[in-house]
Amino acid sequence: MIAAIGVDLGATNVRLVLVDQNGAVMDSGRFPVPERGRAEPVLEDLAPAIEAMRERAEGNAYQVGALGVGVAGLTDVKEGIVLDAINLGWKEVPFQSLLEERLKLPVLLENDANATAFAEAWVGAGRGCRSLISLTLGTGVGGGLIFDGELWRGASGLAGEIGHMVVEPDGEPCHCGGRGCLEAYISASAVVRDAKKAILDGKVGEPLSSFMGNLEGLTAKDVSDAASKGDPLAKRILAKAGRYLGVACTSLIHIFNPEMIVVGGGMAQAGELILGPARVEVKERAFGPLAESTRIALSPLGELAGAIGVAGLALRRYVPSR
Ligand SMILES: [Zn+2]
Repeated sequence: MIAAIGVDLGATNVRLVLVDQNGAVMDSGRFPVPERGRAEPVLEDLAPAIEAMRERAEGNAYQVGALGVGVAGLTDVKEGIVLDAINLGWKEVPFQSLLEERLKLPVLLENDANATAFAEAWVGAGRGCRSLISLTLGTGVGGGLIFDGELWRGASGLAGEIGHMVVEPDGEPCHCGGRGCLEAYISASAVVRDAKKAILDGKVGEPLSSFMGNLEGLTAKDVSDAASKGDPLAKRILAKAGRYLGVACTSLIHIFNPEMIVVGGGMAQAGELILGPARVEVKERAFGPLAESTRIALSPLGELAGAIGVAGLALRRYVPSR
C-alpha cells in the first residue's frame, strides 16, 4: 500500500504525519523547531524523524511514495524554494532539493495555509467540496483557496494571503508592516492586544481581571477560556474579532461564491464565540442568495491539517491514483 509523509514546519513546532491514499492518518509525531534562522539544524532533526517514520510504515506494509512539506511563509512551489518565512527566519532556502538529496524521496514544498485548504477539501469539513476557502487563525492568519477541486495558487504561486486583506484603511498595525489587515483583528495576537488594552483601560470583568498582575503572560486561550465561562469583557473581545471575520467572509462570499468557508487554527477553539458574530455580520451584509449558498464551518482536523494536506498534495503529484 502506498502512503506519504506530510511535514508541517511551523514557527515553533514541526509536525509529521503518515497518511494513506484516502487521507487516513496512520502515524504522527512532533518536535520543536531547533533553531531560528538556519535550515541545516531543522534538516538534521527532520531527516532522522522522517526515516524513522518511513521504517515504521514499511514495517506495517506501507511504501512511502512521496514527502510533502508545508512551510509558514512565501513558497515557490515550482522551484521548491522557501522564498521568505519570517517566523523561521529563512530566506531563499532550496529546502526541496536539500530534502531530496538527503532522503532519496520525491518532495513537494507548499505554503502551509494552501496545504490546509487542500486538507479541508480532501478529508476535512469540506470533504468533496469543489469550491472552498480556508482561514487558519493562529499568531497570524493563513488563507487558502480551492476552486473546481484544485488549489488556486495564482499567477506566481503566492495567492491566498487573506490575512492581509485590508478591512480598515487606517486601522491597527499588522505584522506585515501594513495597517488594517484582517490579521490585525482576528489573529491570536490581535485578541491578546485587545484584551491587554481593555484590562489596562479598566474595563475589567471577572475572571479576566485575574490576569491584571500577569499581563505579559496573557494568551488568546486565556481570553477564550474566560469567554467560555461567561466573562463579558472576553466575550466582547471575541465578538469584535468575529465581526471582522464576518466582514472578510462577506467579501470572500461576494467575490468567490464558495460552497464553504472553513475556519481553523488555535483561535477557532473559541468556536461559536467567534463564528456566531461572524455569521450575524454575513447575514446582515451579504446578498441573500450568495450568503445562503456558503456554509461557514469549523475545521475538524485541528493542528494536523497542514501536514495531512501537504501529504495529500505530494501523493497527488508523485503517486498516480489507480
Ligand atoms: Zn498585513
